[in-house]
Amino acid sequence: MERKVDVLVIGAGPAGIIGAVTARKNYPEKKIVVIKSVANGVIPCGIPYMFASLKDPDENKLGNAALEKNNIDVVVDEATEIDREKKTVTTKTGQKFVYEKLILATGSVPIIPPVDGINKEGVYPVHKDMDYLKKIIENIKGAKNILVLGGGFIGVELADEISKIDGLNVSIVEMLPTLLPNSFDREFSAFAQQALESRGVTVLTGTRVEAISGEDKVEKVQLSNGKDIDVDSILIGIGGTPSTKMASDAGLKLGVGKGILVDEFMRTADPDIFAIGDCAVKRDFYTHKETQVMLASTATAEARIAGANLYSLKVVRENKGTIAIYSTYIDGKVLGSAGLTENAAEKEGFEIVIGDAEGVDKHPGTLPGASKIKIKLIFSKNSGIILGGQVSGGISCGEIINLIGIAIQKRMSCVELETLQMATHPFLTSAPTVYPVVLAAQNASAKR
Ligand SMILES: Cc1cc2nc3c(=O)[nH]c(=O)nc-3n(C[C@H](O)[C@H](O)[C@H](O)COP(=O)(O)OP(=O)(O)OC[C@H]3O[C@@H](n4cnc5c(N)ncnc54)[C@H](O)[C@@H]3O)c2cc1C
Repeated sequence: MERKVDVLVIGAGPAGIIGAVTARKNYPEKKIVVIKSVANGVIPCGIPYMFASLKDPDENKLGNAALEKNNIDVVVDEATEIDREKKTVTTKTGQKFVYEKLILATGSVPIIPPVDGINKEGVYPVHKDMDYLKKIIENIKGAKNILVLGGGFIGVELADEISKIDGLNVSIVEMLPTLLPNSFDREFSAFAQQALESRGVTVLTGTRVEAISGEDKVEKVQLSNGKDIDVDSILIGIGGTPSTKMASDAGLKLGVGKGILVDEFMRTADPDIFAIGDCAVKRDFYTHKETQVMLASTATAEARIAGANLYSLKVVRENKGTIAIYSTYIDGKVLGSAGLTENAAEKEGFEIVIGDAEGVDKHPGTLPGASKIKIKLIFSKNSGIILGGQVSGGISCGEIINLIGIAIQKRMSCVELETLQMATHPFLTSAPTVYPVVLAAQNASAKR
């Protein structure tokens, strides 16, 4: 039997939920249905903290409350086919939905590297599924030697968190020379490495996993540095690949990174189909080249654009590209990155100037709980426009990087940042006399 809906959303991760809720706010009279294949979802960014920091994995549940509160129907099933001519979606159990507007929010699945033995028992990709995660958390807690494969933010957060479980030996392997190589320059990556090592994690950079061996399950890992190490469990944390098979089977075009091609308003080539979140193509804010950013914050920003613009263009997009912006938290310390790194800007051919500053996030810095802050800002040398920034330090860095993100989005110059007007308070911020963002901008200005 066919079911007629106005707006059909496939996927109930951050993109699907916010896409549907935004559609409800903008189109109160429309019938909205969300199809989701995972019955018990998780808040993806909270996954690492299910291993130790949260008392119970269920505390990281991503339920249907936001959808139900907004009068949005939820169907647990897997969408398997889109018929664009008839404007229908068929599911695994044979349900058929006729839509006016379709939002694809099918997200991504973990990348599984082509390593010998990768399918052995005890090797776990990180799926965003509560029932699956509960099982692997139990297995990890019963293991002794854990290897985290991948030194990006997912791997780093997993390693830090698992190191909080008593009696586990944790190692992390990254094939590139530094941790967090895509978003931080060397000095900030070194800060992440020190933070992990101070928790007892063995950090192996510039090292590949060559093979995984064991009788019934993983027992040993052969590394490119010639060493074999004993391992009972491996967590794979090397990012995701967009879930786009159904879209491409329906004739929607994909980019080189396999994300669904969309315009500025998240519209595919089909005027009634939108794609948002990890499954949609991303274009770099500065170069407009395809980029592989997969973040919940980006997914929700895109979802708000699509949800508002389904039937007419209500929200004119001011931000014409994706700023890779995120923060991470290791051993109580924060690292944040926004825009281009020095390394990426140089590779892209920008002529740049760097502004550095260090400071303390309270004043006087002797106040209890004060932390050091280190900031690096990257500017275009001639135009003075900000291209990127990195920050490390205490909790306040989680919002300082968002301030840098706004500066990037508004294409602010180092002169504007030098004259930034900010609120300061002894317990809450650095002193106005030595505000690190301002000092870093001044430092860059002096070199132009
Ligand atoms: C361990 C970890 C930590 C992370 N931490 C952060 C962080 O701190 N900050 C941050 O910004 N980002 C973080 N991310 C990235 C973030 O999780 C993703 O960018 C985000 O989940 C993307 O949201 P999405 O809705 O596009 O896709 P997803 O979250 O992947 O959701 C897609 C949903 O669609 C469902 N689906 C797919 N196909 C179908 C189908 N055919 N029918 C029905 N349903 C379907 C899937 O089952 C899934 O539930 C983290 C990721 C991981 C793995």
